[in-house]
Amino acid sequence: MKKTILIAGSGFAGFWAAIAAMRAVSLAGKADEISVIMVSPAPNVTIRPRLYEAVLENMAPDISAQLAVTGVQYVAGRVEGIDTDNKRVTARLNDGQEMALAYDRFVLAAGSYGAIPPVSGFAEHSFNVDTLEGAQCLETHLLDLKHKPHTAARNTVVVVGGGLTGLESATEMPQRLRAILGNEDVRVVIVDSAAEVGAGMGAEASAVIQQALQECGVEPRASVRVTAVDAGSVTLSDGEQIAADTVILAAGMRASPLTEQIPGERDNSGRVLGDAYLHAPAAPGVFVTGDTVKVPTDNAGNYNVMSCQHAMSLGRVAGYNAAAELTGLPLHPYSQPKYVTCLDLGTWGALFTEGWERKVLVTGAEGKKIKQEINTLWIYPPKADRDALFAIANPDFVIVP
Ligand SMILES: Cc1cc2nc3c(=O)[nH]c(=O)nc-3n(C[C@H](O)[C@H](O)[C@H](O)COP(=O)(O)OP(=O)(O)OC[C@H]3O[C@@H](n4cnc5c(N)ncnc54)[C@H](O)[C@@H]3O)c2cc1C
Repeated sequence: MKKTILIAGSGFAGFWAAIAAMRAVSLAGKADEISVIMVSPAPNVTIRPRLYEAVLENMAPDISAQLAVTGVQYVAGRVEGIDTDNKRVTARLNDGQEMALAYDRFVLAAGSYGAIPPVSGFAEHSFNVDTLEGAQCLETHLLDLKHKPHTAARNTVVVVGGGLTGLESATEMPQRLRAILGNEDVRVVIVDSAAEVGAGMGAEASAVIQQALQECGVEPRASVRVTAVDAGSVTLSDGEQIAADTVILAAGMRASPLTEQIPGERDNSGRVLGDAYLHAPAAPGVFVTGDTVKVPTDNAGNYNVMSCQHAMSLGRVAGYNAAAELTGLPLHPYSQPKYVTCLDLGTWGALFTEGWERKVLVTGAEGKKIKQEINTLWIYPPKADRDALFAIANPDFVIVP
């Protein structure tokens, strides 16, 4: 009977895990003996890093052709149950039926979701740019603002969370609001509990971020938390109340709830602590990858962050290793010592940094060119050419040289 490598998720990690697994199976000449099956709600990679943008075009490219040309089978549904003792999962298919799937190797690549802090009103009154549906809902709301009476609340957006997603959303917003409302007085506020908005990027980058916020006309509110949100206002922990019809929540990500079904240790974000080969150490036959795993990236004490930069490499290594174990190929340890960030900062441009200390390398309009290249080329699935896909799916392939 054919053996099965089952992959949950078709994001950056799941896509590359599937192609890398199929590549290794083909390399070993075992395509007749091993199936690679991907389960996900839709055969798309959602380009989550771009969901803060105003124009939501081509944000979920179809990968059916890439899966077909490499021989990956696709099942439309969501994994609901993982039985690691008996090596089987249950999936809810898109037509509502339940399906049981046995596996020889399972790769969990179900990603992450935007966490909603336990603050009154967030769940009911905030928007997000975490999912395509969330971003579309925000866009519809923003377009509707022009039909509402001119008030301070209508013209104000509060972004909660000064991490990368919050900063990109906030700095994009003044021009986006003006494009919708005309040349009105628009107000964008970004709130963070750290001593300075953007402090998490380190002192050098943070100084650049302050300048960009100022030039974009975004008001930082540091050292405060949001204590309540309602349909027209946001209340801060220092007592300030900001009239705002639009609140965007970007307060951090949590790993897929499926991680709770994998035995073993997890970090504060719910990520499973993986070993160097991306095994879930306490669940034989299970690999964890992308935003569902925490693992060292180097020997200097650094760990992957929830990013597509890491997810693409983690996916390749997990998929390859799942196939290597079934085919007798040598296992490939995960290593990704190079780390860069490219932060879009609206009309000011973008900030490109290198290294974990985030050394500032490129800023402004030059940085924006790099960001556009990353956002329109680097992170998209390549076209459906088997050899080209297999070349990039090599776990030795370096994304950021
Ligand atoms: C606004 C925003 C900006 C970002 N900017 C950057 C950036 O500039 N640079 C960067 O590197 N990263 C950025 N990120 C982070 C990056 O998008 C994620 O880290 C990356 O998407 C993780 O890839 P993944 O494949 O692990 O998970 P995901 O991309 O989340 O994919 C998960 C997949 O699993 C599927 N799935 C979920 N549940 C199930 C289930 N139960 N069964 C089966 N399938 C399931 C989903 O449908 C999806 O296909 C940003 C994220 C956001 C939201």
